[in-house]
Amino acid sequence: MVTLTSYVCGAFSTARGEAVALLNPATEETVATANCGGVDFEAALRFAREKGGPALRALTFAQRGELLGKMAAAIHEKRDELIETSVVNGGTTRGGAKFDVDGAAGTLASYAELGNKLGSAREIQDGEVVLIGRGAKLAGRHAWLSREGVAVFINAFNFPAWGFAEKAATALLAGLPVINKPATATAWTAARLAELLVEAAILPAGAFQQLLGPVTGLLERLGPQDVVAFTGSSATALAVRGTPALLKSGVRVNVEADSLNAAVLGPDVEPGGSAWTTFLRDVVREVIEKSGQKCTATRRVIVPAVLVERAVEELVDRLGALKVGNPASRDVEVGPLATRQQMVDVQRGCARMRAAATTAFGRERPEVLVDVAAGKGFFAGPMLFVARDEKGIAAAHEDEIFGPIATVIPYDGAAATATELVRRGQGMLVSTVYSDDRDWSASVAKGIAPWVGRVCLVDGRSEGVTLPPGMVLPELVHGGPGRAGGGEEQGGVRGVHHYMARAAFEGPRATIERLL
Ligand code: NAP
Repeated sequence: MVTLTSYVCGAFSTARGEAVALLNPATEETVATANCGGVDFEAALRFAREKGGPALRALTFAQRGELLGKMAAAIHEKRDELIETSVVNGGTTRGGAKFDVDGAAGTLASYAELGNKLGSAREIQDGEVVLIGRGAKLAGRHAWLSREGVAVFINAFNFPAWGFAEKAATALLAGLPVINKPATATAWTAARLAELLVEAAILPAGAFQQLLGPVTGLLERLGPQDVVAFTGSSATALAVRGTPALLKSGVRVNVEADSLNAAVLGPDVEPGGSAWTTFLRDVVREVIEKSGQKCTATRRVIVPAVLVERAVEELVDRLGALKVGNPASRDVEVGPLATRQQMVDVQRGCARMRAAATTAFGRERPEVLVDVAAGKGFFAGPMLFVARDEKGIAAAHEDEIFGPIATVIPYDGAAATATELVRRGQGMLVSTVYSDDRDWSASVAKGIAPWVGRVCLVDGRSEGVTLPPGMVLPELVHGGPGRAGGGEEQGGVRGVHHYMARAAFEGPRATIERLL
């Protein structure tokens, strides 16, 4: 068993007090412990502000980008090891673990390129010089400058590698030192990742620190130049946002939370055709990948009523052919949920859906589990429901069931009805529209866009070209309004802006023109 240690003030520190056990969710065996009792948060913040921040701010964007490139290479080099810890501690299949680990390296590499493009500057200009007033003498301009605080990341259990890397890539490029706090239940991968970054001696002292184990009393110490980036449930987000010290100091808080993502099938799509095949492939993948524990997983499948029987039949066939069990067995395609609590919550959600809708596939605990001891492991689903009436539709929108569970919702084929159904999710990270009718697709896409952070359009020509909708891309924004938290990450330079401060400069035209 491994004792995971926080990395604070340039050293791996031994904690005091009672440690939390990290389990293998397929076997329920303890694989590691974590605890950050006794860690001096005040010293960690000071170290970041006084050492890490100035060291990063002294570098140009291109130099910071070089650091990100080295981080990507270090992660890629130890890829197999990180995948292994994810399988054992996260209950993730190898495919799911690769998605996390390769996503981490890929995102860092992408921001390394952006750093290179931003070049030798340390500020980012925002727009042109504007003349103010009637004369030509007074001018103004905007620019983004590095903040002088710390970026604190609070991450969810489902992406211990990518969750850190996607935040770190943007914050470090912005010149802000980071303190990462991964979810405790699956922290082993994050712990290993920290060790390999420290071993590779890539970042200046104070640019990176990590806290392992539940943390209390850190947010209360943050100040006006700091940023909190939170990913997790909306219930925890509420507590984080409501922290009086954050409110008092106006600390910037970015929240990525729950999401009832939708896949919408257009009425023109022919069963058996190319768009149909992509739709089925995407839905199955986005329901079962990482056992449905992805913020971008598909939760609602909106299908024209005339196509529902055929769609459900084919989805059930595909779901029924999957092997569920211990992901240590290489042919297993769906693993357990990460924790007992997740399993209890998902099974409760399934029971609620079962009472309100038709169960088309699955059970709260699958009958056949590969390589799993009787009664062991945190398994739930996969399950597919069909909501044929308002009771079922309302149940599907009550809350996010964070497991391999989706609900098919029949509709009349009208763009307006599909749009209305998607909007009922009250704010999503991603939704996908499958249709060969460009006008129909455009109507739904624009209708849902104010409610969805990223809208994917798929047609009959997309097969072999389109990426899975659940894949977050560094080039495009990730986040969503309302229930999804109202946050925004990634999106190229937009993600970097979150960790910088925008200032307006006003003064004599010649001075302003030469300022940056
Ligand atoms: P969670 O229970 O809300 O925990 C998230 C993080 O918050 C963990 O690191 C947790 O630490 C920490 N935390 C808990 N209570 C806290 C408090 N009072 N103050 C500060 N931090 C606190 O979420 P989860 O179960 O890990 O993740 C599942 C949820 O994340 C789902 O709802 C999913 O939709 C959402 N998610 C969203 C996105 C997105 O991009 N929108 C991505 C991934 C996941 P401990 O583990 O130590 O308790």
